[in-house]
Amino acid sequence: MLKHKIALVTGSTSGIGLAVARELAAQDATVLINGLIDHKEGIALAKSIAEEFSITCHFCPGDLSQTDSINQLMDSIFAQFGRIDILVNNAGIQYTSPIEAFPVEQWDKIIAINLSSAFHTIRRTIPSMQQHGWGRIINIASVHGLVASINKAAYVSAKHGIVGLTKVVALENANHGITVNAICPGWVETQLIRRQIDDIAQKDGVDYETAKKALVSAKQPLHSMTLPHQIGEWVTFLCSEAASTTTGSSIAIDGGWTAQ
Ligand code: NAD
Repeated sequence: MLKHKIALVTGSTSGIGLAVARELAAQDATVLINGLIDHKEGIALAKSIAEEFSITCHFCPGDLSQTDSINQLMDSIFAQFGRIDILVNNAGIQYTSPIEAFPVEQWDKIIAINLSSAFHTIRRTIPSMQQHGWGRIINIASVHGLVASINKAAYVSAKHGIVGLTKVVALENANHGITVNAICPGWVETQLIRRQIDDIAQKDGVDYETAKKALVSAKQPLHSMTLPHQIGEWVTFLCSEAASTTTGSSIAIDGGWTAQ
């Protein structure tokens, strides 16, 4: 379905991003992966995806907390590939604390990675999408782009921000063949939430599986976590012809969390 399309997925060396990269690879896209891992490991991961799906896959290093680094990443992609057709802004981190104790450097880092990096990648990518008359931008937001939880001031602010950014870019590009959507997952079992599960296990003196159930059922009426590949399948759907008039949307994949 996506042969000849070039897709950049930020933060795709683990978790949701890796699953998204694999689903795009399964649809024959050329996939550019990025993440904060050792260069050799990144190259090996890209090679394994390329071989598994018989596609082109490259590791594109870049620290998305730094504007200069994002600009270098985008410069090198445009120099090598000339364009990006599918941009998935996925890189994200978490830190939890009541606001009065929230470390300022954690606030700055979360806003930089979870929100500002998407501004920079979109800003750099839109002109080439407009020129080619086709583009798909998918921002991996969160239910925390729609509702709040305690102790997540920076994360909730960044995710509400990315939902807003999604709407603005969708409106600005509504008649350029470009769609811009946000995916808002509830709980997805990845490295990002492991610490929250460990904290419950320690606090309640229970094992990891019991703590995981407690975490999910506290927020989601449907007591199962979404699997990373399911988010990947939503991303490929948003790249399909069937989704060509879906733009500016925030799609909740959250086990009913935001229906309450
Ligand atoms: P993860 O920790 O498994 O993956 C995060 C990815 O981001 C990794 O590839 C990591 O290398 C990369 N990354 C982190 N900092 C980076 C930086 N400075 N520069 C470049 N890459 C960086 O987490 P995940 O759960 O897969 O999260 C992916 C996205 O999904 C995030 O935006 C997260 O907020 C969102 N999300 C996750 C959940 C969940 O329950 N796991 C729920 C809703 C939304």
